[in-house]
Amino acid sequence: MRAAVMERAGQPLLVRELEAPGPGPGQIGVRVSACGVCRTDLHIVDGELSEPKLPLVPGHQVVGVVAEIGEGVSGFSVGDRVGIPWLGATCGTCAFCTSGRENLCAQARFTGYHIDGGFAEYAVADARFCFPLPAGYSDLNVAPLLCAGLIGYRALGMAGDSARRIGFYGFGSAAHILAQVCRFQGREVYAFTRPGDVSAKSLALRLGASWAGDSQQLPPVPLDAAILFAPDGALVPLALRAVERGGSVVCAGIHMSDIPSFPYSILWEERALKSVANLTRADAREFLALAPLVPIRTEVEVFSLEALNDALARLRAGRINGSAVVDLAGR
Ligand SMILES: [Zn+2]
Ligand SMILES: [Zn+2]
Repeated sequence: MRAAVMERAGQPLLVRELEAPGPGPGQIGVRVSACGVCRTDLHIVDGELSEPKLPLVPGHQVVGVVAEIGEGVSGFSVGDRVGIPWLGATCGTCAFCTSGRENLCAQARFTGYHIDGGFAEYAVADARFCFPLPAGYSDLNVAPLLCAGLIGYRALGMAGDSARRIGFYGFGSAAHILAQVCRFQGREVYAFTRPGDVSAKSLALRLGASWAGDSQQLPPVPLDAAILFAPDGALVPLALRAVERGGSVVCAGIHMSDIPSFPYSILWEERALKSVANLTRADAREFLALAPLVPIRTEVEVFSLEALNDALARLRAGRINGSAVVDLAGR
């Protein structure tokens, strides 16, 4: 199989011929057709997350068709379309796993980080962590739902059901999906982008945002909650100043630059600052059932496996409109 391989942090991925893995007990083998590019992939490749297996095939928004079934697998048949997300394994027995918080399991293993992922023509995964995907989406268009969509959805849940006016800092893959969910739920969206990012602002307004401006600006009205998708700690005090008393600021990324010190007065009055980590399988089931009801439409920029380093460079520079997806079916 062809695969994009990370050998060391800070170096471009190398496209190589590797032997395709076979499924072990409990695993399925998946012929990959598409794999979404996530900001977390960038943090892994750039060395900002320090525990990748090496060499590593990154990629954790994996879409394909079941080609082989390992011993003891139930619930999947050869030919089924399936999604492989970031959460690849948990211990199943710790206090977090047994209280609906498997996203916080200390033994959790993640796809495209501890386990080879989907920037390859073939992948194996623990069947218990894979999902059937909603019909009506192409492989390329459904891929961004698997991380941008569903971890974004978990972040939206942490913003609270009563939050009506929601700000998104960074309007890329996750925000363009979540903006549609917010409109469906009757919430107002306020989009904050890098200064001068005209295309992200116009995408936000096209998807029904009430307002789009630069991240340094205050919104025209106080917000009930803000979600930070951009990995810039300097946005935290800006977002705290933008939210109303009792409002929440939710950091949705796995990595962020340092947060500058800020006066207590912008946190006081019961504002809350939280982070979101990973996903649970319950999040995935709930979000994948909701997506076709909205219905969420993803905007994707498609790259070949050979162009994956370009996709990562453009994501780093904030120059992807919507979501970047690697096409592994050779269309
Ligand atoms: Zn991700
Ligand atoms: Zn556990």
